[in-house]
Amino acid sequence: MSDLPTESVPLSREQRDVVDLNLLCSNGFFADPVLELGTEEQKREWLTPLTGPDTPMTALATTEPGTGSDAASVVTTARRADDGCLLSGQKAWISNAGEAEQYVVFAKTDPARRSRGVSAFLLRKGTEGVSFGQPVKKMGQRAIVCREVFLQDAFAPEEHRLGAEGRGFHGLMRTFDISRTVLGAAATGVARAAYEYARDYARGRQQFGRPIVEHQAVAFRLADMRTRVEQSRLMTWRSARRLDAGLDATVEAAMAKLTASETAAYRTWAAVRTLGGWGYSREFPVEQWMRAAKPEEIEEGTLDIMRLVTSRSL
Ligand SMILES: Cc1cc2nc3c(=O)[nH]c(=O)nc-3n(C[C@H](O)[C@H](O)[C@H](O)COP(=O)(O)OP(=O)(O)OC[C@H]3O[C@@H](n4cnc5c(N)ncnc54)[C@H](O)[C@@H]3O)c2cc1C
Repeated sequence: MSDLPTESVPLSREQRDVVDLNLLCSNGFFADPVLELGTEEQKREWLTPLTGPDTPMTALATTEPGTGSDAASVVTTARRADDGCLLSGQKAWISNAGEAEQYVVFAKTDPARRSRGVSAFLLRKGTEGVSFGQPVKKMGQRAIVCREVFLQDAFAPEEHRLGAEGRGFHGLMRTFDISRTVLGAAATGVARAAYEYARDYARGRQQFGRPIVEHQAVAFRLADMRTRVEQSRLMTWRSARRLDAGLDATVEAAMAKLTASETAAYRTWAAVRTLGGWGYSREFPVEQWMRAAKPEEIEEGTLDIMRLVTSRSL
């Protein structure tokens, strides 16, 4: 990750509307539990297509209408049947649902237990008993569709279970260590774009006879933006380096995600402020980045949950 460029690549308005880093990274969210829990055969069958030219879309389904932050309390069940399990329940807020061909679904094989009762299953779109809700109408992030997934005795054969029964929650937590680091990078990118745009605008915009960057209030705001972007980038790199080295990165990933997503939220807001009234116009990209920053605070664990994970290490 240390080779990443630190200057942003300019995109056209049309490109900005369709490019979403979370979408580009979303197949990793599916692949990580397969890599963590899957057999060599499962990795070949389900991950090889992701490396080809016609990459299928994928999804990871854990959230439910009554279960969000407390992922161990999922109530979707996986009942034993001949040579496999029947999955029943309802998932909510699933990115790519309905569009995706392949799913990892988390369900309880032992409803009496919490995290140790959760198992992970691979499902294909088109499996009997799998259906989808309407797209959620969101504040932003238009490139990604989020839907409910309905499971009515959807059959997952034995060879579609990832890892041993009860190992699903462990796989989900390892997945979060990676996906929170990736999200840290995405949020850093949004914040960086906002900072660079605001900086360039402030150099060019004149008020009271000089560029607004020469007014100290504006310059200090930009200095804070730059500092926070650097901080997010370094914390994300540190988490990524630990993961690359095969080390535990649960706390580093949580701190990186917390820092980067707060940075994205506050610094895109600061960019809108730096453009004055024009920041509020859709002719400029900063309002879009402000909306794009919001889900970074929620997905894969809210800011409160990042603080909870970090506080457990004290
Ligand atoms: C754009 C988007 C895409 C998503 N994509 C997916 C996806 O692909 N797959 C998937 O499975 N899910 C997905 N989600 C769901 C997401 O993971 C959950 O929304 C998130 O985990 C929070 O759960 P919740 O919405 O039920 O909020 P809740 O858990 O009900 O939390 C509500 C509030 O209470 C706080 N809170 C809860 N527990 C605690 C605690 N112990 N201490 C302090 N505060 C607490 C939270 O921080 C939050 O502020 C997506 C969500 C969004 C917005």
